[in-house]
Amino acid sequence: MYPKKIQLKYAICLALLVALFSSCAQKDKSTNEAAPEASIQEMTNYLTSLGFDKQKIVFEADRVIVESDIIMTLPELQQRTITWNKEKAGGPQTEQRRNTYIISNTYNNNVRIFIESSVPTAWRTAIQGAVNNWNAVNGTRLGMSIITSASGVYTRVFMGNAPGQSWIARAYLPTSNGRPGVSVEINAYFNTLSASQKLFAITHEFGHTIGFHHTNQTSGTHIPGTPTVDANSVMNSFVLNWAGFTSGDVLATQILYPQ
Ligand SMILES: [Zn+2]
Repeated sequence: MYPKKIQLKYAICLALLVALFSSCAQKDKSTNEAAPEASIQEMTNYLTSLGFDKQKIVFEADRVIVESDIIMTLPELQQRTITWNKEKAGGPQTEQRRNTYIISNTYNNNVRIFIESSVPTAWRTAIQGAVNNWNAVNGTRLGMSIITSASGVYTRVFMGNAPGQSWIARAYLPTSNGRPGVSVEINAYFNTLSASQKLFAITHEFGHTIGFHHTNQTSGTHIPGTPTVDANSVMNSFVLNWAGFTSGDVLATQILYPQ
């Protein structure tokens, strides 16, 4: 079920954001000369090579945000860009080579999630529901749990407040050392979403922390065997009411994290 209102709101916000984002990117360019190994231009080239839309790449002081809700730290992005440059220069490449997007076996059977105390009950319910959703996918070694102390946390969930911005929540991708995305930030501006939409949104964000890109956009590598169009996938970039994973979502998870 498609909440038209949200989609429309998203479309309007997006137009605004493209304008905002480009001015942001301009501003940050000048402050980012501290990055010695890979220039902003090289990192931008790398991101566009992954299929990310150049117009939706936002550099901040210590991180980059792509497609509104997917985040990488600058050191991580630099590392990836350097590796990518080396490979372009003729390093080893094989057909089935995976990018550095997924969680290693050290962490993927128990992704430890910690929820900051500032997160309201309704979102906590959604977070627990999202953990249950991912844990219920059959035929995969992927597992998640919510821990009650911040020590040993892999993925931290916390509140942000960005009134008028289109992102409901945003998340880091896994890092090149195989760790899950370090955090999910929830935009308090969307506290009024229904429980069902909150559940969809958080399940989606955890999808990013375990290595999924957006199914309705062209960044990242298509996972062979999964549908190329999957309108109800949890990894679409707009929020739906939660109605379960699609068979494509399940298959993709089983392929990335086989038992
Ligand atoms: Zn997303």
